Amino acid sequence: MQCPYCGNDATEVIDSRPTKDGISIRRRRQCLACAGRFTTNECREENLLLFLVKKDVGQRATTANLKTVLASIVGALRALTQETEKLIKKAARLEKIEASKKKTAANKSRAGKYATLASFAMVFEIIRQHKTGIHISKLQERTGFDNGRIRSIVSRACRDGKIKRVGRGVYVSA
Ligand SMILES: [Zn+2]
Repeated sequence: MQCPYCGNDATEVIDSRPTKDGISIRRRRQCLACAGRFTTNECREENLLLFLVKKDVGQRATTANLKTVLASIVGALRALTQETEKLIKKAARLEKIEASKKKTAANKSRAGKYATLASFAMVFEIIRQHKTGIHISKLQERTGFDNGRIRSIVSRACRDGKIKRVGRGVYVSA
């Protein structure tokens, strides 16, 4: 019997009495190491079976109903095991789905980032080649991007100081 306070194995019984139902014995114990006191409710195995029978069936044990109770306990345990296995499998399946969703999302965002970088690089390169400046409509024509996309790239590049505006809709490398 382990002491709940310090984990020491050596304890002594200082009081012992059967419980009202007569199935278990209440023992007052004291730890030999830390002198901590605690109460245990101890069952003998044959009493435990009687206890289960009493609890589950509410009858006195006979060989016949003891067998029935045992069978029902075994059945319940088997059902519980199957249920647990199902839940474990389900959890594994969900984990797998979750992981693949995450992977897809990561790939998408990576692809998006590369696409954005490539668009920026393309626009910068065209602007760099036009030393006297290039109009935004020409950029749109050269890249094939729509107006909104070109404008967003250009305005961000201006903010970042990579290009500058030298006339209405005309940009050069900064
Ligand atoms: Zn102790």
